[in-house]
Parts: sequence; structure tokens; C-alpha cells
Amino acid sequence: MLKTLTEQFPPLSRHEALVEANRCLYCYDAPCTHACPTHIDIPRFIKKIPTANLLGSAQTILASNLLGATCARVCPVQELCEGACVLGAEHKPIAIGRLQRYAMDHVYNNGIDVFQPGPPTGKRVAVIGAGPAGLSCAGELARLGHDVTVFEKRELPGGLSTYGIIVLREPVDVALAEAAMIARLGVKIESGVEVPRDLSAEDLRARFDAVFLSVGLGATPALGIPGEEFILDGLDYISQSKMNLPELKPHPAVLIIGAGNTAIDCATIAKRLGSGRVTMLYRRTENEMTAYPHEYAFVKNEGVDFEFLTLPVRVLTDNGAVAGLECVRTRLIPHPEPIPGSNFVLPAQQIIKAIGQQKPSVGAALGLATERGFIQVDANLRTSQPAIFAGGDCIRARGAASTVMAVQDGKIAARAIDKSLAEKVAA
Ligand SMILES: Cc1cc2nc3c(=O)[nH]c(=O)nc-3n(C[C@H](O)[C@H](O)[C@H](O)COP(=O)(O)OP(=O)(O)OC[C@H]3O[C@@H](n4cnc5c(N)ncnc54)[C@H](O)[C@@H]3O)c2cc1C
Ligand code: SF4
Repeated sequence: MLKTLTEQFPPLSRHEALVEANRCLYCYDAPCTHACPTHIDIPRFIKKIPTANLLGSAQTILASNLLGATCARVCPVQELCEGACVLGAEHKPIAIGRLQRYAMDHVYNNGIDVFQPGPPTGKRVAVIGAGPAGLSCAGELARLGHDVTVFEKRELPGGLSTYGIIVLREPVDVALAEAAMIARLGVKIESGVEVPRDLSAEDLRARFDAVFLSVGLGATPALGIPGEEFILDGLDYISQSKMNLPELKPHPAVLIIGAGNTAIDCATIAKRLGSGRVTMLYRRTENEMTAYPHEYAFVKNEGVDFEFLTLPVRVLTDNGAVAGLECVRTRLIPHPEPIPGSNFVLPAQQIIKAIGQQKPSVGAALGLATERGFIQVDANLRTSQPAIFAGGDCIRARGAASTVMAVQDGKIAARAIDKSLAEKVAA
């Protein structure tokens, strides 16, 4: 039977949530809380579920993480809170993500606003980019009473939560509901505004007391092979699957170039659309794959095939349509080197590339110092210009980027901006 492209896990029933919450040991100095990048007090929010205090539970979550509904769905919990749960050693860890979603669904389904805007400070802050980092920062600043405007180049807010995270994990509505909640805190979200094209550094300086840059990363880079114009961009493919699913068609054979989490998401979509053979190509081996182990296991279970030590050479076409991909085998010495004469052809009607994203260009355009292409910041997320702060994927020069880390950056930057604005008033 064809599996569908809808949210993977159903919500917990009340009975399931109670049983699961009652398994929690409410550990002192809980390791799950330490493992959460936003440090949600996990035993505290779980403990409120059996006493039917779902509002209190949601308050506990949102006090640490304003995007608790998104994070409940997209966080790699196996690597974070659930991976640290003491019950994991001998029993099943607590389903923290699903319990968090249970509490979050309560406030969103019942139209409850947990927080109110703070008393006005008269200070204006611009946030550039309405992804998780930007929305988190904007919401925290609004709670502190600042007048915040978010400028977003796309039509809808939410960043990759809206356009990039596969619907199995997060439907568009969830990301948009969170952005609407942030807007109800008094944050103005102006879409279709790109910095610096539509709003220059001078404009920002003249109109705002501080700026937070949360522009994420850039487009998918080029492979530089003949026929590349026939290859679909993986981020566009995922975005289409969220915004315009009927436009996507299955094919007898689909190739996905790349082996990270985005590539896995593309392969999952292709398979669930009903495509025949879906194969992921990677120039290294499974040991070097950047995808999370649980995602790799998931996609193998979906029936996706892998061609490791394989490099694309050129796209083959027939009458203007994709017919296959010529590839060459590689060996690791330790970088992947093509093995001369090992060329072969993989037949395909569709080829998708998911080979990461380019570095952000906005930092350099605004004259900020950068580190390996990412915007350089200090421990308070302040850039080389004192009134400009940055966070999220655009500063993540090291380590894996994730939504929850972007949310935490937004929170840290909001506190630092608030402090710097208070210092300005005092000076
Ligand atoms: C396909 C895919 C799947 C992922 N799945 C997961 C997952 O399951 N779990 C997880 O934790 N993480 C996942 N991630 C990573 C996660 O989505 C990111 O780490 C997170 O979205 C980063 O948030 P951000 O706010 O920094 O950037 P983004 O979400 O990229 O948001 C940046 C926003 O800035 C806007 N913008 C950019 N430039 C400008 C400009 N010049 N002017 C105005 N606006 C601008 C963009 O349009 C966008 O809305 C995934 C990433 C991808 C690509
Ligand atoms: S580590 Fe597990 S059992 Fe302990 S508080 Fe966290 S979720 Fe509950």
C-alpha cells in the first residue's frame, strides 16, 4: 500500500499521554533537560500532564522555547532529550517529543495565548528573516516590551519549518500558527522584503535601535556537470511537496544526489509519491554520511536504495527529457577521487540534488566580519558591528544546524539586545 505524505505520528490520546507521563521518574537535575539546547524543564512540564494542568505544562515549555510546537515535531529527540533519558538504558525512554506536542496542541487547538507583550520600552528592533531563529528572537523581544519588525523575503513566515521540513514531521499549518502567535505578541511581520535589496544597511540603522540577522543559509550549490539544468533542486522539491503536492509526479526511477538529511527527505517524498526505484548517490561511504542514523534507518525501511562511492558525471537526456545519469566510482584517499574507466549509467526519469546549502551572503553585503563564510559573532551573538546581532544557521560555522539551536540563538540574542538597549538608555 502507498504510504501517505501526512504527519507521521498521530497525536497522543489523553489515555496514552497519561500513561506515558506517569512513567517519568521526574529526575532531580534531569539529564533530559541538560540535553535540550533550550533547557526546557522537562520533568516539570511532564508532571503537569497527569494533573490535567495542560496550560501550565505549555507555559513551562514556552518559557524556554517559544517554538515548542515546531520543536516537539522536528527535534532529533533521539540525539537530544530522549537520548539522555535515564529510562533509555534498560527500558524505553519517555516519548518527550510527543508529550510536548500534546501540551502544545492544547494551547493551539484552543486558541490560548500563553504570553502577553511586555510594557512598551520605546525601542525598535529589526529582525531579518522569519525562520525559527528570527521568530524566537522577535517573540522574546516583544515579551520584553520592544517594538519589533520582522522582514522576510518569502511570502510566508516560518523559514525552513514552513518550506523545508518534510510534512511527515511538520505540516505547514503548525509553523504558520506559531508565526501567528508571535505576531499576536505585537511583532510586525513584513513579507516580500529582502535585505539589503529592499532595505539597506543605512535604512536599518536609521529606523532601528538594534538588528538581529537570522537569514539562514543560501541556495543549493551547483554540481558543475553537463546537463545540470535538468536536475531539480532538493529544497524546491520539498517546498513543492508542502505547498503544491499535486504538481509532483511519481517516476519509475528517481536519483537523489547527496546523503544528508535533506537528501533523505527528498527520497522519502519520491518513494511516498509512488515512484518505483529511488536511489541515493553519495561519493563517500555510509560511514561518512551526515544524515542522522535514525533517518538513515528510516529511509532504508521505506525501500530506498543506495549507491555509495559514486560521483555524478553528466545528465543523459532523450528528446529533452531526463533518461539517466552517467556516474563514476570513487575511492577515498582520504578524499573521494574518481576511479578512471569506472564510468557507468544509472537510468532515471528524475534527478534531484540535495548537496547542502551555500553560505549566507547577507553578512558580507552588510560589511560584517565572517568566519568560513558564516557571520562571525561573540558569545552574546553580537557581530562585528555593535548594534547588529545574528543567530541560527547563518552563524553555524561548526556542528550540525537544527531548529532548536536556532530557537536558542534567538533567545540568547534577545536577552543580549535587551541588555544593550538598557545600557544605551542608562548611558
Ligand atoms: C530539508 C531540511 C530539513 C530539515 N529538517 C530538520 C529537522 O527535521 N529537524 C531540525 O531540527 N532541523 C532540521 N533542519 C534544519 C533547520 O530547518 C534549520 O536549522 C533551521 O530552520 C534554521 O533556522 P534559521 O531561522 O536560522 O533559518 P531558516 O529556517 O533558513 O530561516 C531563514 C529565513 O530568512 C529568510 N531570509 C533569508 N535571506 C533573507 C534576506 N536577505 N532578507 C530577508 N529575509 C531573508 C528566509 O527566507 C527564511 O525565511 C532541516 C533543514 C533542511 C534544509
Ligand atoms: S530523564 Fe527521562 S525519566 Fe528522567 S525526568 Fe527526563 S524524561 Fe523523566
